[in-house]
Amino acid sequence: MPHPAQLDGNEENRHRDAVSHFVVRLAYCRTEDLRRWLLTQECHLFKHRFEELLPTDKVAVMEQAGLNYATLDAREFNDVKNQLEVVQRLANPTLTAIGLREIMNEGHSSFYAVPFEEVPDLVRQRKVLLRGGRAYIHRTALTSLVVGAFRSQLSRALAITARKWNARFAAEEADRLAPIVESLSSRYLGEDYTGRASDGGAGVALAELDALASTSFPLCMRNLYSHLKDAHHLRHAGRMQLGLFLKGIGLSLEDAMTFWRAEFCKKIPNDQFDKQYSYSIRHNYGKEGKRADYTPYSCMKVIAGTPGTGEHHGCPYRTFSEDNLRAALRGMRLSGPAINDVLDKVKGKHFQLACGVAFAASHNGCECDEGIQHPNGYFSASRKLLAPQGAQKAAAGAAVGGAAGPSGGALPVTPAVGTKTASVVALGDITPAHEGEHAPE
Ligand code: SF4
Repeated sequence: MPHPAQLDGNEENRHRDAVSHFVVRLAYCRTEDLRRWLLTQECHLFKHRFEELLPTDKVAVMEQAGLNYATLDAREFNDVKNQLEVVQRLANPTLTAIGLREIMNEGHSSFYAVPFEEVPDLVRQRKVLLRGGRAYIHRTALTSLVVGAFRSQLSRALAITARKWNARFAAEEADRLAPIVESLSSRYLGEDYTGRASDGGAGVALAELDALASTSFPLCMRNLYSHLKDAHHLRHAGRMQLGLFLKGIGLSLEDAMTFWRAEFCKKIPNDQFDKQYSYSIRHNYGKEGKRADYTPYSCMKVIAGTPGTGEHHGCPYRTFSEDNLRAALRGMRLSGPAINDVLDKVKGKHFQLACGVAFAASHNGCECDEGIQHPNGYFSASRKLLAPQGAQKAAAGAAVGGAAGPSGGALPVTPAVGTKTASVVALGDITPAHEGEHAPE
C-alpha cells in the first residue's frame, strides 16, 4: 500500500517520510500496546493525507494498492436502491432530502459492493447496507476502505518486524541500536513545560489553584488534587506527578511549599513535614541534590504509571473502572452523549483521545489544537480558551463565579466553594476499584 505522501512531487520529502516511518516502525513494533498506538496514529495520518488528495490521485493510490473494486451494475443497483436510500438517510442524519436525492441520482456508478470485513468501521457504525457478506458503500466512504487496507497491511508488517527484531537484531544490536530503539518510544519531544514561573512566564498564584483545578486541570491532576484536599496526603508518585505539574503551570517554590504544608499539616506536625517532605519539594525545583530542573510528566509517562493500593497517580482514563470514570466525567459536567463518547475511546484504549473529547466537551466544543500530549499542554490550551490575551489571573478569579468562554459566554464550569471546588468534591467521592485505606508515608 503506497502512502499518500509518496505522491508528493518532492523527492526529498518522500525520502524523509519513508525514513521516519521505518524508524518509528522499528521503535514501536516491540509490544502490543506500542503497536496498537502506532497503528492508530498512522491510520489517522494516512486518512488525513488520503482525504486531501485529488480524486485522480485517490484512484492512483487505490490502483497501486490493488484495490480495484468494480462499481455496481445497473441491475444490482436497482435491486438494492430502496434499501441503500434508507441506509444513507440513517447513516447521515444531517443529510437533507435534496442531498439524499442527489446521491441516489448519481446511480450505480457511484456505489461499490465490497467484502464486509474490509470496512469494519462502517459496519460497526451501522453505516452500510449488508447483503450476502458484502457491504454496499457510496464512493464517499472509500476512505474507510482504503484506511482499513492500510491498517491491516501495517499491522502485519509490524508483527513481522517485531518477530525479526526479537529473534535476531535485539541481541546483535545490544550495544548500538537497541538502546536507541528502546528509548525512542518513551521519549517525549514536545514542549517540556519546565519551570514556567522561573522562566518569567505568567505563573499562577496559590489563591487561584482551586478555581484553576475545576476549570483547567486535566482529569489526572484533578484526581490527585481532589485526593490531596480530602486526605491531606499523597504518596510519593502522586506528589511527583502533581508537584511537577504545578511547577510547570508556574507555581513558585515558595507557594508550592505553602500549598503542600497547608494540606499535609492538617494531619501531621510542622516539623515532621519539614523532615519528610520539604526536601523533595525543593528537589523538584532544582534546589537540592543534583540541582536538576525536573520536567513535568508527559501523558505517555503518566499513562505508564500504575497506581497501587492507596495511590492515585496515573491517567484515570486508563486506571479508573467504568463507573468511577462516569462519575468523574459527571464531576466535569460532561453531558451523557459526551461521556459515552469518552468511554468509547477508552474501550479502544485511546486514552489521550478520550481526554481530548473530555477537553472539547468541557470547553464549549473547542478542541485542543495540538491534541492531548501533555497535562501541562491541556492546561495551557484551556487557559488560552478561558482567559485569552494573557488575562489568566483575572479569568481565574472570574472562574470562581463561572469563567468567560471564548465567545464571552459563561462556560459550564463548577464554581469554587470555599477552599474546595464543587467538582473537586465530586471527584473526591470516587474510589477507584483498587484503592484502600493507607497510613501516611
Ligand atoms: S490523557 Fe494525559 S492529560 Fe489527559 S488525563 Fe491522561 S495523562 Fe492526564
